[in-house]
Amino acid sequence: MERPHTTTRRVNLYDLAPGDVASALAPFVAPSFRIRQVQEWIYARGVDSFESMSNLSREARADLAARFSLAFPVARERTEPAHDGSVKYLFTLEDGALIEAVYMPMGSRTTLCLSSQAGCAVGCTFCVTGFFGAGRNLTPAEIVGQIHRVRHEQGVANEALNVVFMGMGEPMLNFEHVATSLEIMEQSISLKRVTVSTAGIIPGIEELAKLERRPNLAVSINAPDRERREEIMPITKKYPLEELIASLRRFPLETGRDITAEYVLLAGWNDSVADAATLAKLLRGGRFKVNAIPFNPDPALPSWMKRPTDAAIDRFASALMRHGVPVTVRRSKGNEIAAACGQLRGRTERRRAAPKG
Ligand code: SF4
Repeated sequence: MERPHTTTRRVNLYDLAPGDVASALAPFVAPSFRIRQVQEWIYARGVDSFESMSNLSREARADLAARFSLAFPVARERTEPAHDGSVKYLFTLEDGALIEAVYMPMGSRTTLCLSSQAGCAVGCTFCVTGFFGAGRNLTPAEIVGQIHRVRHEQGVANEALNVVFMGMGEPMLNFEHVATSLEIMEQSISLKRVTVSTAGIIPGIEELAKLERRPNLAVSINAPDRERREEIMPITKKYPLEELIASLRRFPLETGRDITAEYVLLAGWNDSVADAATLAKLLRGGRFKVNAIPFNPDPALPSWMKRPTDAAIDRFASALMRHGVPVTVRRSKGNEIAAACGQLRGRTERRRAAPKG
């Protein structure tokens, strides 16, 4: 079992599944209703210090602080709000690693896009995070900490939140900590409002399928056939497209839920009406909806990759719908910056690497 990364000897309570928090507190907190009070501060309010727990005595707070921690990542930079209010955050972790999260207000609801790793070894060629390579797994505290930091800064209630694991990293390669963070989130956010997005790591999808309560599942498909998918997603060699689709067809879905097939649209490469027809055939027989994401260019990415015109995007989406596949197109700025997760850290890395003079 992989241990959460920590540089302090105190156990971070946000690294533990809720049942383990109760067991960890039991020897030190009495009577037992006080444990529930501490859990309330953690799960409903997302506090990052014992000092905030005003219904505990000063001595009890000091005792807990000596034994445990509640540390979260620190927000180091944030972009100016886009026209739709979305903001990208860059967080520093205890060991100096950088990760991103994106806040996207959408009417009465808010979507937060989280990172699960401080980098990514999967190496999709259209992704800035992939360009910068592998990074360590985030701990549960570092995952849920992104939610609470942004939620507090932006004044968002848990009830208004949707959470998506579409930031930096491949959640299925950090399955254990992602699963613990789902258990923690579930104390205040319904898993119906949480989506885990994968590049198609079949063993991870199978592990997720075994969970008693599951979040929504999204899978990056990005090409209508295996050959082209291998070109931009080398992971296809290990987990072939046909086997991936077969595993998705087996994935247990509750009534009313579908699997989201993410599809980055690249001009002249995977965006034709014929490509839409081939994609529809690939997805036939499964409960899929397509989320088409026009490519977002970045200096780190191949120059042949271009965003299609709006007319080409519309033609592709209409063709998919004619073939009976539900499709949405991410057009807003906020969604674009989420699609381009890794870019803010990428800019910071380039600034660090730039020669001084
Ligand atoms: S798209 Fe996701 S899985 Fe692929 S390299 Fe980027 S972060 Fe990793």
